[in-house]
Amino acid sequence: LRILIVGSGGREHAIAWKLAQSPTVEKIYVAPGNGGASFGEKVVNTNLSQADFGALVEFAVEKNISLVVPGPEQPLVDGIEGAFRKGENALGIPVFGPSARAARMEGSKAFSKDFMTRNSIPTAAYRTFPSSEYQQACGYVQKCGHRVVLKASGLAAGKGVLIPETTEEALAGLKEIMVDNVFGDAGNEVVIEEYLEGPELSVLAFSDGYTVVPLPAAQDHKRIGEGDTGLNTGGMGAYAPAPVATPYILARITQEVLQPTISGMRREGYPFVGMLFTGFMITSSGPKVLEYNVRFGDPETEALMLLLSEDTDLAAVLLACAEHRLDSVKVSFRQGYAVSVVLASEGYPKSYAKGKAIQIGATPNDVIPFHAGTSISPDGQVITSGGRVMAVAAFAPTLQKALDLAYQGVDAIQFEGKTFRKDIAHRSVNNTST
Ligand code: ATP
Repeated sequence: LRILIVGSGGREHAIAWKLAQSPTVEKIYVAPGNGGASFGEKVVNTNLSQADFGALVEFAVEKNISLVVPGPEQPLVDGIEGAFRKGENALGIPVFGPSARAARMEGSKAFSKDFMTRNSIPTAAYRTFPSSEYQQACGYVQKCGHRVVLKASGLAAGKGVLIPETTEEALAGLKEIMVDNVFGDAGNEVVIEEYLEGPELSVLAFSDGYTVVPLPAAQDHKRIGEGDTGLNTGGMGAYAPAPVATPYILARITQEVLQPTISGMRREGYPFVGMLFTGFMITSSGPKVLEYNVRFGDPETEALMLLLSEDTDLAAVLLACAEHRLDSVKVSFRQGYAVSVVLASEGYPKSYAKGKAIQIGATPNDVIPFHAGTSISPDGQVITSGGRVMAVAAFAPTLQKALDLAYQGVDAIQFEGKTFRKDIAHRSVNNTST
């Protein structure tokens, strides 16, 4: 197989790492990739932009690509799957990823909330308002009688959610989204939903449009600061399996949410192929959906790739999804825990310097330093080029050991301004039999 991965983050590096282990994979191209070392000769960066579908299709035809794996949400929402499916020269290059219609589950929160209502999938109570109905939205916030969360409906790079503490703050937030347009077009429609309490859980699941196969449930760490303080980021670390995901909770998640989502999307005419990422709040009345993402999560993926068993052939699994025969392949997981710890540039998620030299020392077995915002300078040095620079992932039989290993890996990487959270998995580390 010859695979084209689209994207440049730690998630794409981790997918490439696991795919490279597959005996059937001959070559992996990453468009555009990052400064990550190739895993043997199989993985090659290309100079192509993730937004230039024409150039990507042309490249795929030229290189005889057998499977395309888009990483980020934007190309999926923009219809990259259709470009490969319908491209004039590229009839039938399979894509592990949803169509633009199916990607609306992430691209429009209003759409996904209405989908959940139609399909009786548990989620927070809500109303949606177009920006022309600002007064009505204010009236709803004043009357609804519970704490609310405000969400810009469109894609806002993980920043479009406001969690006001009072009605006054909520009204001010509505003005920001609906009148001042702080989230641009993403705020053309706003979802006002009930505030939920409980631990959060991310469940990623393979699907071929019919069958759904969940991976071990993960928890991520959105805030920059220890103890979940400070600004929101793209994610500072993750671990799986999260102990809050008991077999009972997981069974409910599959029966009440994952299977009905996949069946509902197919019934409504936009079957889901790819990685369905569902964010949950585990409330006192059970799991409720916070959001859907239509792709691998970052930094969950860096941890989850280490949990796939050695004899799980990821390339075969992704291709089987694209060909609607997921039940024909084997997916199994290693017994143990995986952790990812993100190393960020100083100042992230606000402004930060780039171009700092990175030294990467030797890391123990089962510790993988995935590259994210890195590049290679003209003189061949690996340098920082983004906010999230690397994600160190580790696997071990216990959560505590996986954390110890991951932080050994963190110590082996040096660059000026290296910033990371020391408390990844703090919510679980004292609660497991580690
Ligand atoms: P992401 O970056 O995870 O894709 P997003 O901006 O698409 O995020 P959500 O996942 O819907 O948006 O919300 C972001 C965060 O806001 C959640 O992880 C959760 O902590 C909080 N949140 C969202 N909805 C609610 C809710 N109804 N009640 C309480 N907290 C919520």
